[in-house]
Amino acid sequence: MALIIQKFGGTSVGTPDKIRNAASRIIQAVNEGNQVAAVVSAMGKTTDDLVRLAGEITARPSKREMDMLLTTGEQITISLLAMALQDAGYEAESLTGWQAGVETEDVHGNARILNIDTKRIQQMLADGKIAVVAGFQGLTSSDNIATLGRGGSDTTAVALAAALRAEKCEIYTDVTGVFTTDPRVVKHARKLPSISYDEMLEMANLGAGVLHPRAVEFAKNFGVRLEVRSSTEKENGTLVEEEATMENNLVVRGLAFEGNVTKITIEDLPNGLNTLSSVFSLLAENGVNVDIIIQSVNKQERTNISFSIETAILDETIELLERYKSSLQFGSIQHEDGLAKVSIVGSGMISNPGVAAQMFKALSDQDIMIKMVSTSEIKVSTVVDQQDMIKAIETLHDVFELDARQPVQQL
Ligand code: ASP
Ligand code: MG
Repeated sequence: MALIIQKFGGTSVGTPDKIRNAASRIIQAVNEGNQVAAVVSAMGKTTDDLVRLAGEITARPSKREMDMLLTTGEQITISLLAMALQDAGYEAESLTGWQAGVETEDVHGNARILNIDTKRIQQMLADGKIAVVAGFQGLTSSDNIATLGRGGSDTTAVALAAALRAEKCEIYTDVTGVFTTDPRVVKHARKLPSISYDEMLEMANLGAGVLHPRAVEFAKNFGVRLEVRSSTEKENGTLVEEEATMENNLVVRGLAFEGNVTKITIEDLPNGLNTLSSVFSLLAENGVNVDIIIQSVNKQERTNISFSIETAILDETIELLERYKSSLQFGSIQHEDGLAKVSIVGSGMISNPGVAAQMFKALSDQDIMIKMVSTSEIKVSTVVDQQDMIKAIETLHDVFELDARQPVQQL
């Protein structure tokens, strides 16, 4: 008998009908002879609504009470889903994070899972019951309820799959799988039959919202087989696994993009040994999330440093730097907003030189100016004008033949 973890995201449990639909997915797996533990998110936009509600009480809610509030969302779903399963004649029981044995770091808002004590779930499964577990929550060592960060139910599901050594972790969502790029933007974006952990991690970190990056990291570290699939369509989804076997010949597997990027340039800094570390330590200590960094190395006494950030934190970043202007000893700060990041991802790049060059050429052939570049073994990111973003994505999707191939046979 195989054990399967099935995770249902907010849109897949957004209404009573959808909750019944999720129940029928679980029942189907049970009827096929599997044991099932389900992990669920809060219904629809419940978490956003709760965040808004807190905002009507105070502009600065404490993180502890925020976690207490937000975890009620998942608690609604687990009870309703367990009721739906019972109504269909199946034995099921709902469990909050702490009842399920999810132990987290002693922090609020973004806690990591440290351990899952699976005794209770294992007993339930042995008794022939379906376990319905609240995602996104756990208990700290000081007996407080903590959340795992927005989108964290994916992580609960994968962690549970690892702890229970489940055969597979199925992530049910409102899309049919992982696509070459966002199908709302590129009409011919194609669903991938499989993608490797590393590629998925890059895509998730680059903002492809289908899976929480930490969940992918967890799945990679513990070798959890993941499948992203639709809760309403029957078709197979996308397998996330060690090596994406079906299309190894694909150099680029997907494209990710995000708008609202700003480039900041600090001009006329001392060209000393400590300059980079002083600037970026200051930014890090103040929680400024820096993405791409450019510094030209030269022998002059003064230098410039550029980096990119989300436009949303532009004002606070400039304010912070200005406050430390005399200790950092720089001349001035320039910024350029209205930018976007467009990235190509694929593990085939490791063994194929010239992929970046091909990307740059494709963009320059379209008169798209590249403002910044960063690379990893399996990714090339470029920063371009936001008004060129869609054209850049469409061009690259074409150039790297992401929609030209026939869909590969389903797994
Ligand atoms: N309900 C939480 C959120 O909206 C967790 C999740 O859905 O994964 O972020
Ligand atoms: Mg999600």
